[in-house]
Amino acid sequence: MSDTAKMKHYDVAIIGAGATGLTAACAMAEEGLEIVCFDKSFGFEGEKKGDTRTIALLQNSVYLLQNISVWEKCLPFAEPLNIMKVVDDTGRFPPVPSASFKASELGPDPFGYNIPNDRLVSALAEHAATSSDITLSQTKRVVSIKNRADKAIITPVDGNPVSASLVVGADGAHSLARAQAGIKTNSWNYNQTAIACWFEHSLPHQNISTEFHRKAGPLVVVPMQGNKCGLVWVETPANANRLMDLDEAEFARQLKEAVHGSLGTINKVSRRSAFPLSGLVANRFAKGRTVLVGHAAHVLPPIGAQGLNLGLRDAAMIADIAGKAFIRAEDLGGAGVIAEYDRQRRSDIMSRTFAVDFLNRTLLHGWFPPLQATRAIGVGLLKLLPPLRKAVMREGIAPQRNLPPLMYSR
Ligand SMILES: Cc1cc2nc3c(=O)[nH]c(=O)nc-3n(C[C@H](O)[C@H](O)[C@H](O)COP(=O)(O)OP(=O)(O)OC[C@H]3O[C@@H](n4cnc5c(N)ncnc54)[C@H](O)[C@@H]3O)c2cc1C
Repeated sequence: MSDTAKMKHYDVAIIGAGATGLTAACAMAEEGLEIVCFDKSFGFEGEKKGDTRTIALLQNSVYLLQNISVWEKCLPFAEPLNIMKVVDDTGRFPPVPSASFKASELGPDPFGYNIPNDRLVSALAEHAATSSDITLSQTKRVVSIKNRADKAIITPVDGNPVSASLVVGADGAHSLARAQAGIKTNSWNYNQTAIACWFEHSLPHQNISTEFHRKAGPLVVVPMQGNKCGLVWVETPANANRLMDLDEAEFARQLKEAVHGSLGTINKVSRRSAFPLSGLVANRFAKGRTVLVGHAAHVLPPIGAQGLNLGLRDAAMIADIAGKAFIRAEDLGGAGVIAEYDRQRRSDIMSRTFAVDFLNRTLLHGWFPPLQATRAIGVGLLKLLPPLRKAVMREGIAPQRNLPPLMYSR
């Protein structure tokens, strides 16, 4: 027997157990596939690791988590998002009117739910650990992924190599899976840093998520349970460093000023984490026997809650395509699956990347009067024309086109 024939073989090897890798694992287990998932740890100790971000999950992402039996573990920590408000705080001319988007205009469901990232990843990891179809393989890191004609060989630095028919690269922005598949990227920096944390406030948030558009970037407050909100505050790197160095009381005072006192007094602020902002999009989303999901495929600035929601659509799509190939007894990493995944994900990923990048740049380069005027006219039209507003809400907040069945309510 050859060395590779002696290896343990899996249907799918997932590199990375962040939110997208674990979701792909749980969704593929629903399709009956045998999966191995590699990472240095499973579950998340967010605050201990200094990551205090919260994640606004849009409704189709919530349906996905319901359909893979993870949502019940998330619900105790999640808060519904009923209204999305956009406030122009750039002070530029012409002023852009504020706009509120109500979920009730689209139907009975909220736009989605906000949940601490650590709770989401832990819920996924807990569920994956109970599945007999998922092997969680702890390793310092995977160091080699060879895409061969008949299977892929995956080698962890500190364990035995395994083989798999399909590799899911869920290993983040610096993806090894992407590099080893020979997939190139376009990447860029924004000269912006996002500060993420949560804070307690005296006035109720009324389930309103507000995005203040400022010259340095957006400042977003997203409701959490109780009188508490998640914060993403985008600033120039120098200002972000200054804000990170402030003591809690002074940070709370400056935050209260930045949100114009809309949430009353700010009593308590969690540990803050800083994320330098960059953008990245892979030239292809699948090659060889490897498909890319989440940050391995695309990195966007945190505007309009697009990043992970896009990654969860990747995860649901590969589960659907691989699940169907499995039923037809086809090669899970064969040319058909690989081409189909790339085709199905291309327009969603490219259009979101372009839209988020464009919105961010209109804030940064708002000195260019036509851009500011275009924003002002656009928002004015949205306020005046309910059908246009609903169409924009559907596309931006509740996209329905080309979703796999796992992302609909059952
Ligand atoms: C401040 C901030 C706020 C955000 N808010 C939102 C929001 O409200 N809504 C939203 O949709 N998105 C949001 N996002 C985006 C979201 O956080 C990301 O899209 C998401 O975390 C990406 O997850 P991922 O699983 O693809 O990658 P990661 O979380 O980076 O996970 C990659 C995993 O791969 C592992 N790994 C890497 N290399 C290897 C290797 N060689 N071997 C084994 N394992 C490896 C790593 O250990 C890690 O666990 C926000 C982002 C930021 C910065």
